[in-house]
Amino acid sequence: MSRTKHALVIGGSLGGLFAAGLLRKSGWTVTVFERSAGALASRGAGLGTTRELVETMRRAGARLDVSMAVPMTGYVWLDAAGRVVHAQERLNSSSTWSRVYLPLRDAIPAGDYRAGMALERVEQKGERVTAHFAGGATAEGDLLIAADGNLSTVRRQLMPEVEPRYAGYIAWRGIMEERDVPPAIRGAHFDKIAFTFPPGEMSLAMPVPGHGDDTRPGHRRYYFIWYRPADAAKLRDLCTDADGVDHGLSIPPPLIRPDFIRAAKQDAAERFAPDLAAVIARTAQPLLQAITDLESPRLVLGRVVLLGDAAFVARPHVAAGVSKAALDAAALADALEAESDIDAALMRYERERLDFGRRIVAHGRRLGTLLDGKDVPPERWTGDDAYRDPRRVLADYGAPHLVHDLTARDLVA
Ligand SMILES: Cc1cc2nc3c(=O)[nH]c(=O)nc-3n(C[C@H](O)[C@H](O)[C@H](O)COP(=O)(O)OP(=O)(O)OC[C@H]3O[C@@H](n4cnc5c(N)ncnc54)[C@H](O)[C@@H]3O)c2cc1C
Repeated sequence: MSRTKHALVIGGSLGGLFAAGLLRKSGWTVTVFERSAGALASRGAGLGTTRELVETMRRAGARLDVSMAVPMTGYVWLDAAGRVVHAQERLNSSSTWSRVYLPLRDAIPAGDYRAGMALERVEQKGERVTAHFAGGATAEGDLLIAADGNLSTVRRQLMPEVEPRYAGYIAWRGIMEERDVPPAIRGAHFDKIAFTFPPGEMSLAMPVPGHGDDTRPGHRRYYFIWYRPADAAKLRDLCTDADGVDHGLSIPPPLIRPDFIRAAKQDAAERFAPDLAAVIARTAQPLLQAITDLESPRLVLGRVVLLGDAAFVARPHVAAGVSKAALDAAALADALEAESDIDAALMRYERERLDFGRRIVAHGRRLGTLLDGKDVPPERWTGDDAYRDPRRVLADYGAPHLVHDLTARDLVA
């Protein structure tokens, strides 16, 4: 009889949990190693959902719940006066990170999830791979799955040249209670993604689950994200605190200099429909984030596999980071089931997911074309310049090959 194969999963967020859940279903033993010692908590924003995401949750043994998503009916583009320029029906929904994380975590036996284990390096000998953790602990397996996020320790050891790439624009983000949203938005547009396209910029506002992941009308929250070009010098300035400390690509919200927040709110008042500007003005503590993407040229290095954000990160316009992590894990489990030889399975996984990752990153870049700080007149548009037209952005928003129109039917357990 063949020996049960063992996988080490580095990173206990969504990518790691999907991989662990699906490999367990395929008969592997799996141990997840998560650096954070305490409970992981949502980063507080909405999360794009897809049918592929919930199907993979079901397959990984997670319990589904119709209340996990806030349904939306379409997109609306509002001009600076609040008039509808363009509207489009498109079923869609948002959920939260913890509504995906908790059911996946429940599907993994507690003893197979080891918190407070920070991987330091990986070592490979023949068909065995050893993980070395801070404090000196080690673990050995037939396969190591790097699900340790966009700054992956594993990827940095094996491919140090691969790093997140700044897209040339930042995003201001904020969230407010449904009851505080101006009545005009609450009445006419609350169940849609409301887009605005000030010259060379883009913003979206949408309902997301409220406190305690509550999705009931009246208890939801309203989330906005506003993309603005910023060259390297401007980014450095925005991410430098009042003491002159440069925080790189993301500054802790309380350290954002108040003058930048004031200036952004002032700009919003001049560029947005008054009700959307009011949403931004009423946000007590906006967040600031540099938009990046990341592409790995390889996903398999011996018995080490990159998955989720460790492998590829597309810009947020595709709204599919979590779905991509789920599909990476599903493709890995499928390949390991289809091939009796692990190395052949890994090659199959790499072929399939390199292609998907490249396509989704390219689509995210396309959707961000109008944020590149260039002013190209329509008569000189070529190729992806078509995405300087907001109508084209709206037509192709989201991930091209995933199904975003999740309905309550998809969520029946
Ligand atoms: C706590 C948390 C909250 C999030 N909230 C949201 C949200 O609200 N909305 C949204 O759209 N996306 C959110 N994300 C991002 C989203 O989960 C990912 O973009 C996507 O699911 C792909 O996930 P991933 O598992 O590949 O990477 P990530 O989610 O980034 O997870 C990587 C995990 O690896 C762990 N890790 C890193 N280095 C090591 C190491 N050396 N050793 C061991 N473990 C390590 C990290 O602690 C982390 O838990 C969140 C991520 C995290 C970690």
